[in-house]
Amino acid sequence: MEATKVIEFERPQMDVGSSCVASAWARVPDVPTSDEKVQLKKKIADLLKEKQAVLVAHYYVDSDLQDLAEETGGCVSDSLEMARFGRDHAAKTLVVAGVKFMGETAKILSPEKTILMPDLDATCSLDLGCDPVEFAAFCDAHPDRTVVVYANTSAAVKARADWMVTSSVGLDIVAHLHALGKKILWAPDKHLGSYIQMQTGADMLLWQGSCLVHDEFKGIELEILKESHPAAKILVHPESPAAVVALADVVGSTSQLINAARSMDAQEFIVATDNGILHKMQMAAPNKKFIVAPTAGNSATCKSCAHCPWMAMNGLRNLLQVLETGENQIQVDPDIGRKAKLSIDRMLDFAAARKTNVKASGDMAQDGKLFSGIGPA
Ligand code: SF4
Repeated sequence: MEATKVIEFERPQMDVGSSCVASAWARVPDVPTSDEKVQLKKKIADLLKEKQAVLVAHYYVDSDLQDLAEETGGCVSDSLEMARFGRDHAAKTLVVAGVKFMGETAKILSPEKTILMPDLDATCSLDLGCDPVEFAAFCDAHPDRTVVVYANTSAAVKARADWMVTSSVGLDIVAHLHALGKKILWAPDKHLGSYIQMQTGADMLLWQGSCLVHDEFKGIELEILKESHPAAKILVHPESPAAVVALADVVGSTSQLINAARSMDAQEFIVATDNGILHKMQMAAPNKKFIVAPTAGNSATCKSCAHCPWMAMNGLRNLLQVLETGENQIQVDPDIGRKAKLSIDRMLDFAAARKTNVKASGDMAQDGKLFSGIGPA
């Protein structure tokens, strides 16, 4: 029988203003031998070609899947680029190696495509901690606020939002809304929300969810580690607690952290995000050294040990199986999908306008005019 592990995570109770400990589970993947890996990769590459499918993988999944995605013409990226790549690619089938909300986002953007995932039970503590019904009630209680949700949410939560954002563009979008005088209702990650609030000065009401991987990084242990590596630069994803963010040399999305690892003039880096990212960092800067930031403990005392248990559910075996059988198709209710697409498209339009037309000037009034045609905000 397949092994599973129980995972505890903080679940916000917004109606009573506190959190409780909830539990979920994840399958523990069976790691193939080196010889099996070679055979599995060959079969998967052949099937991707035969079925005119493309593999889209997140930076946090197993390094074999990341390599395979790139070797077969797919992509490895953060969730913003995964969404764009999947939408714009001509393939009729997308195989998304990541967690469920990423597959849903792909389906929402490309309802005509078949979206497969190695394991449909690969979820996320942020998604689990933001129930759509409770979230709708929270929004209804604050009708004066523009609703901005992070990508790590269900399709139903995105359908209730005005904007969806990823960590690479969230700060700019909230800055834009703030410049337009909007008050924000933000969900679900409290740490990312606090960071954006601090950077922009926006009026933000925060849902109290957290990522169980990033929530485990500890400021005090990080300070101690830094003492023994004084020349190291600290790279932090903003889903981490404020005490960890405060020690960062660079705060950014996964892509931004990889770019920093490549371009910064340092030989050593301490990295506070899922350790799956080290594969890409090491490829981007082969001569540099990367150290995972300290978590609360090891093994039994650590909830995640810097690796997402749900990202880890993506493996070569189940990837091959879904390609062979067509199992594990992502489905999204069409009505929910249509509503959710509005909030995702606003972000993609904003990101495209920023990339192609102009760079945000830093003058909020000016940038507000620039993007004022996008969305209801
Ligand atoms: S790393 Fe955190 S935010 Fe990402 S999928 Fe896992 S639990 Fe969710």
